[in-house]
Amino acid sequence: PGTDFRPFAGQRIAVVGLGRAGLPAAARLRDWGAEVACWDDGAPARAAAETAGFVLRDPSQGRLAADALLLSPGIPHTLPRPHPAAAAARAAGVPILCDVEFLYRAVRAAGSQAAFLGITGTNGKSTTTALLHHILAVAGRVSEVGGNLGPAALGLNMLGSEGFYTLEMSSYSLERIASVGFKVGVMLNLSPDHLDRHGSMAGYAAAKANVFARQGRDDFAVLGQDDALSTSMAAGLAARLVPISGQRPIPGGVWAADRSLRDDAGEIADLRQAPALPGSHNAQNAAAAAATALALGIGRAAIAAGLASFAGLPHRQELVGEIGGVRFINDSKATNADSAARALASYDRVVWIAGGTGKEGGIESLAPQFGRIARAILIGRDGPAFAATLAAHGVPQEVAGTLEAALPAAAAAARGGAAPVVLLSPAAASWDQFTGFDARGDRFRALVQAMAAADWGRA
Ligand code: ADP
Repeated sequence: PGTDFRPFAGQRIAVVGLGRAGLPAAARLRDWGAEVACWDDGAPARAAAETAGFVLRDPSQGRLAADALLLSPGIPHTLPRPHPAAAAARAAGVPILCDVEFLYRAVRAAGSQAAFLGITGTNGKSTTTALLHHILAVAGRVSEVGGNLGPAALGLNMLGSEGFYTLEMSSYSLERIASVGFKVGVMLNLSPDHLDRHGSMAGYAAAKANVFARQGRDDFAVLGQDDALSTSMAAGLAARLVPISGQRPIPGGVWAADRSLRDDAGEIADLRQAPALPGSHNAQNAAAAAATALALGIGRAAIAAGLASFAGLPHRQELVGEIGGVRFINDSKATNADSAARALASYDRVVWIAGGTGKEGGIESLAPQFGRIARAILIGRDGPAFAATLAAHGVPQEVAGTLEAALPAAAAAARGGAAPVVLLSPAAASWDQFTGFDARGDRFRALVQAMAAADWGRA
């Protein structure tokens, strides 16, 4: 579509939250004809919007005069603390929408029937989204990938009817779609998370179920069967159900058992040939991506090739180096004990680097995995507390404080024969020492690479 493509002409859209995605989204909506008013609680973000020529309007002052509110995914609209902008929208009967909704409306207004693929679940969303996008690319299909992962929806290119939008959908964005119907909706798994935002498990599950709303009989619902909550969502689906499991055979579905990915027709892929997808949690992700690709008519050979050549995502059990037979794994994304448990369970014996800003409960819940830890090296604010828990369970440990100090200590222990793997899987947020989990993981990777280079020099 050219400059005369103005699907939102005459519509007043309030854009609140001008972070990474907010300002580009506002610009695109303006290009598409909308009358945009912007707001952010932070003065620097407001200044940037003004510089870009946007009108600023505090949505909580007076009556919200808008046809829709585009609320950044980080801003709550539900109890216990809805943002004032959300409260104002509610009071004025203005729909609260996310960027995927606007993308969908624009794509359809352009006459394109490009398929929207929505991937959600408590864990594995980013991996499955990236994997599916990769399989589509290997199969020669046109896919734009984004949403929660990578580029925001309104930063994606317009696609013709043969294209796919492969979108990671958080529960927050799922609550803010109104007309999007996914050609394939994927629900991986469901466990208690973000209950602060959704108030209750029922509210959280209801948000996730929106990935299957507005589907028809020609659409597909790919549904994880490895937990009770997710399994129970099969009731009342309008779309065709494709059950998946990362653990056991599911007749009529797609499953992985003993690293063999299968459906009723036989083996699709040998997951031992998929180095970036270790563990049964990734088997679930692989089953979901394969089930989606099969539903879209992608051939089995392309799916197998895609699984084998998938490079994985940074910071999620990412292999960042191998020095003297020791593998260094960056799992900085593991910001809570639950995801660290997944990583620990993927290896028989590790030197474990952990710590940072811990969550409530610390690492006590990791006790079943403690037997795999040859030695723990702790960093960050809650390093000493983690060390105390480990000591109480008889796990050898030391407090190194920083990543810079932890890595040489971990490498020395591993190369001394303690374990073939050094695993950074912090079970804690990074805010005490880094700007985010990605900065922490980048630092770890850089330190490992520097160590590998020095090692190379010595050899
Ligand atoms: P999300 O986008 O849902 O946060 P990611 O794909 O980024 O999920 O994975 C984050 C972490 O969660 C990974 O490092 C891994 O430890 C764990 N994980 C990945 N996939 C799954 C899954 N299917 N089930 C449970 N845990 C998973």
